[in-house]
Amino acid sequence: MNTIAVYQQIVKIKQLTVTAVDIDKEIVIHCHTNTEFPTCPTCRSSAQAVDDPIMLRVRDHDLSLRTTWLSIKVRQCYCDKCGETQIEALPFLDKNRQATARYVKSATAALNANR
Ligand SMILES: [Zn+2]
Repeated sequence: MNTIAVYQQIVKIKQLTVTAVDIDKEIVIHCHTNTEFPTCPTCRSSAQAVDDPIMLRVRDHDLSLRTTWLSIKVRQCYCDKCGETQIEALPFLDKNRQATARYVKSATAALNANR
């Protein structure tokens, strides 16, 4: 199994396809969303991709004791029902789109355990 395939299994987010991995003092996993059409974050309808994709850099679980980031290419989409252009729905991220929901959940649990 090649490195990309290994990291695809580690990331384990169905909506993301891993395209490259940079391993240095930190690990950066490059990926993009892979659904055929973006999903409107407001009404969950299938929406139309518009404009250029944007890059999000979000924190995920450490791997091999290294700070790990997902660098995700995401689409902006226009929803006919809502009449708005927004970043596509990314249910695996926290609401600020700065970390994965699983990272926030485990970091919060660790903080509470230390109280
Ligand atoms: Zn919508």
